[in-house]
Amino acid sequence: MSEFEKIKQGDDSFVAHTYGRFPVAIKEGKGAVCRDFDGKEYVDFSSGIGVNSLGFCDEGWIRAVIEQLGTLQHISNLYYTEPCVSAAKLLCERTGMKKVFFSNSGAESNEGAIKCARKYSYDQYGEGRNKVVTLVNSFHGRTVTTLAATGQEVFHRYFYPFTEGFVFVPANDLSALEQALDGSVCAVMMELIQGEGGVMPLEAEFVQKAADLCKEKDVLLIVDEVQTGVGRTGKLFAFQHFGIEPDIVTTAKGIGGGLPLGCVLFGEKTESVFGPGDHATTFGGNPVATKGAEYILHKLDDEFLSQVTEKGEYMRQRIEKMPHVQGIDGMGLMLGVRLEEGMKSADVVKLGIEKGVLLLTAKAKVRLLPPLAVTYEEIDRGLDAMEAALKEV
Ligand SMILES: *Cc1c(COP(=O)(O)O)cnc(C)c1O
Repeated sequence: MSEFEKIKQGDDSFVAHTYGRFPVAIKEGKGAVCRDFDGKEYVDFSSGIGVNSLGFCDEGWIRAVIEQLGTLQHISNLYYTEPCVSAAKLLCERTGMKKVFFSNSGAESNEGAIKCARKYSYDQYGEGRNKVVTLVNSFHGRTVTTLAATGQEVFHRYFYPFTEGFVFVPANDLSALEQALDGSVCAVMMELIQGEGGVMPLEAEFVQKAADLCKEKDVLLIVDEVQTGVGRTGKLFAFQHFGIEPDIVTTAKGIGGGLPLGCVLFGEKTESVFGPGDHATTFGGNPVATKGAEYILHKLDDEFLSQVTEKGEYMRQRIEKMPHVQGIDGMGLMLGVRLEEGMKSADVVKLGIEKGVLLLTAKAKVRLLPPLAVTYEEIDRGLDAMEAALKEV
């Protein structure tokens, strides 16, 4: 039995079948290239779904993480530690946000944001002003509350009763949003580019007017940057493209660089909403995960971020000329490739694996989230494989 067959059999026997997996087991990686157990190489245009910001096994990140592992791996939030302070300080300085709560995932970050919004409103206005408006086609996570917050009917099954108090309005529909803000709403939560929903960027005018409307009505604006954050769109956070000041920003995926880490960033209105005992998580602010985050944040300086934009532009120009491609949505290194009517993005992803590139789907689009540190050589190699897949599909 091959190494792959052994792993697959073990997985089938002992790991809960909550994921459909491709018939590949990845053994190791370096930069944007990884290898399976037969030695076949793949250019990773998925970053482990937006996680490996610096690619596989970045030397500097490894050094930072390993040094911390050998110093203090965990002590709990009952004590002060240094790495989470450094990471939080960098996040605040680079965004204008005021405080950071560290969590372990995107869903958990969004849970924290929703709790904060409800408490803010309770403190200011008392009971009853607790609804959260999110957008149709959004994705906010897999906990019972974040599923309820997710604006896609397919996620609202089986797990009843869901958390109450979520209202959905279509993206880019300002009058629907205005109507929804009827005095019972404490927050509006949105992704600025809907990721899982199909790499759907919001219109700048809608985002800015929504932000104004929220400010006017003292409704908190929560921006879910779990996928768009940490350099993905060519700025540290996507909201920085829009000239808005969110009250809460959530992130995860790319801030961890491969370790589980999430953050809730609080602005002026929200920085003191949670007091001791109001919110917590045992692993939150873990020294190893936050040491890695600190390293990533140092790496993502203005020069690095402008490279993200340039690489994204380069990829677009090449992809536009490929067969079956109708257009490309997204920003920076978050790209959604529109295919000809009737084509299935999953077929392209499957063929991509054969040709040596790891791609993602987002609804009908082929989604690319390459590591931010991807080189032009790796880009060309991955795009050659993608083009080969598109020619054959
Ligand atoms: C991935 C994602 C989440 C959920 O993050 P998890 O770490 O899987 O809990 C939430 N919101 C957005 C926009 C995401 O892309």
